[in-house]
Amino acid sequence: MQDTEKLKDKKHELEQLIQQKRENITVSMAEHTDELSMFDQHPADLATDVYEREKELALLELLEYELEQVNLALEKYQQGDGGVCLQCGGRIENKRLERIPSTTLCAACAHAQAPTGKLSEEVIPAADMSDRGETFQVAGYELFEDTQ
Ligand SMILES: [Zn+2]
Repeated sequence: MQDTEKLKDKKHELEQLIQQKRENITVSMAEHTDELSMFDQHPADLATDVYEREKELALLELLEYELEQVNLALEKYQQGDGGVCLQCGGRIENKRLERIPSTTLCAACAHAQAPTGKLSEEVIPAADMSDRGETFQVAGYELFEDTQ
């Protein structure tokens, strides 16, 4: 049952992060509107702000995606199906489950979905994550990592 404990911790962590991100995005949008009404906004600053906000939104989407995966995995454990691949119905490798408790796919099936993983890596470069002090791993990135 250790796996479900890990998943529950993860779920809690993700829910908090998502809430924080939502608040940040709402606040920055409100500030943004104020600045615009003052007519002295630099076009370059504006572009940076928009870029920053889009990055935040992309990260929020990834977090929500991971939360979905965690919930899915928790549900499976509750039904006694923990560790079974959703795609092919085979056993998910133990090593893989240890590293990524929220995974719902075996290594082969995760690899079949690799393009999504590549996209996520582009949206959130690893350096950007550490800049923000966010050391957790996002499912979109970790899920499709090479596990061979
Ligand atoms: Zn599979």
